[in-house]
Amino acid sequence: MQASGNTSDVAIPAVYVDYGDYQVLRGLAKEYFPVVPYFQVRLTPDESRSWAVANILFARIVAPVVVMLILYTMAFKCRKTRHKKAREALEIKVSRLPKRIHEETKGQEDSLCAICLDVYVPGDELRVLRCRHDFHLRCIDPWLLTRKQSCPLCKAPVFQDEETSLV
Ligand SMILES: [Zn+2]
Ligand SMILES: [Zn+2]
Repeated sequence: MQASGNTSDVAIPAVYVDYGDYQVLRGLAKEYFPVVPYFQVRLTPDESRSWAVANILFARIVAPVVVMLILYTMAFKCRKTRHKKAREALEIKVSRLPKRIHEETKGQEDSLCAICLDVYVPGDELRVLRCRHDFHLRCIDPWLLTRKQSCPLCKAPVFQDEETSLV
């Protein structure tokens, strides 16, 4: 059915509803149209929809970010704990390396620590590595703990097993 004449000035309000609402309206229309000539639909803000939007935002943005943060924090703590345990194990291994007290050597050339280049004086505490090179304990221990587990002079590995790595 078509209206006659120019209908371009006729304004027909239109409202989009979702399929569920459409079915409800259609059911009401079928039920009441024989009795009442029309019915009025009042549009009111739907609080549940704003909650739905908030839920979607939470589920798609906030929750994944929170989960990622938790996983990252757990991984960071796990790595830190592993690093700490490896460091403690290395400290124990270094502390078990042989050491000796330097004594006065007469008629021999003064030996020196290849790390700090200081000549040994009687009473200096020295760490002796497997390669027979020795260094001040205060110099070689930080070297082994923070740099490499090899002799600073000949590069021989300090430990018999595989090198302990803190990385
Ligand atoms: Zn030294
Ligand atoms: Zn050496």
